[in-house]
Amino acid sequence: MLLIKNAAQLITLEGGIRTENYDLRIIDNGAVLIEGERIIDVGTTAELKGSAELEIDASGKVVMPGFVDPHTHLVFAGTRENELYMKLQGKTYLEILKMGGGILRTVRATRAASKDALRAELRGRLNYMLRNGTTTAEAKSGYGLNFETELKLLDVINESAHPIDLVPTFLGAHAIPPEFKDSGEYIEYMKELIPKLAPHAKFIDIFCEESVFNSEESREYLLTGKKYGLTPKIHADEICDIGCTSTAVEVGAISADHLVKTTDESIDNMKNTGIIAVFLPATPYMLLSKEYARAQKFIEAEIPIALATDLNPNAYTESMQMVISLAITQMRMLPEQAIAASTINAAAAIGLENEIGSIERGKQADIIVLDAKNYQQIGYHFGVNLVEKVIKKGAVVWSRD
Ligand SMILES: [Zn+2]
Repeated sequence: MLLIKNAAQLITLEGGIRTENYDLRIIDNGAVLIEGERIIDVGTTAELKGSAELEIDASGKVVMPGFVDPHTHLVFAGTRENELYMKLQGKTYLEILKMGGGILRTVRATRAASKDALRAELRGRLNYMLRNGTTTAEAKSGYGLNFETELKLLDVINESAHPIDLVPTFLGAHAIPPEFKDSGEYIEYMKELIPKLAPHAKFIDIFCEESVFNSEESREYLLTGKKYGLTPKIHADEICDIGCTSTAVEVGAISADHLVKTTDESIDNMKNTGIIAVFLPATPYMLLSKEYARAQKFIEAEIPIALATDLNPNAYTESMQMVISLAITQMRMLPEQAIAASTINAAAAIGLENEIGSIERGKQADIIVLDAKNYQQIGYHFGVNLVEKVIKKGAVVWSRD
């Protein structure tokens, strides 16, 4: 058995997904008792002391659930730092895409990459993630846009042998590849691929956006996925609100992600549907935009919110701490909202809230120890990695020393 003791703050996040009350359920001078892969007791150090042969002293530290990153494009070849120059000249995302850059450039590099090369890329990113405190992540395909490469990407995700657990999402409808004449023709092709690729994924996702896939195409594609056992997710309202959140509601999506341009009316329409609003502030940040999702509007509507990195060649970060910092400074989320959005609510955005995302009896022991006196220092003490230890399924898998 393993006991983590003396935590200045043990952030338990007990009590399930947060919608209105963002109380983090903190235990001062807290302790967690772990047996095997599971948490078996949670309390104060005085209550639990002497109960285990192995101990971790977390004096002066914050102990909390490992971060859950519910939206990443983890597997790709080639990077796009060259596009920084275009962005600095004022080119927009869609302009860069039309010039053959953006996603399509990554698709070319990823199609050409071997499975081994992609595995190595993935491993490198997962190592960064783990050191920065992420213990579970969602990972999307979507840089193949044909059967062979989409399957290759899902295989690389499913075969990942790394302490971080990955949940696979099929994102065949990420962009329109040059060999198709329009989005309609490509969606027809995707609908043929879904039955073949569905056994390799848990979720299905689409880039619903002006001049990419419209809300009607998204509806057909996501419903086809649902028919083959996949749960819908949607990239919505990143650049324009073209009604993608209505599609999300209609198809029963687990989450709608981005939501920078979501109108008041669309937010209203998402109320009481259970859909989780996943915000990705690293993306506008790297697009040099000043416009972020209006987090407080969603919170006022009691729509559950989550945060994710959106890790991809445009917004290249593995750090949920960076995302939390952006959420607070750019989206004006309260620190407790940002923490809940990166743990229990993020777990719910990938359907795992009963297994991970909080420190409670019976849950998987995915826990991080941070060099912070209190949770408000996460995001406030920024640009550095505060994580000192990462415990995954009850075992210390990374330690700063
Ligand atoms: Zn994305």
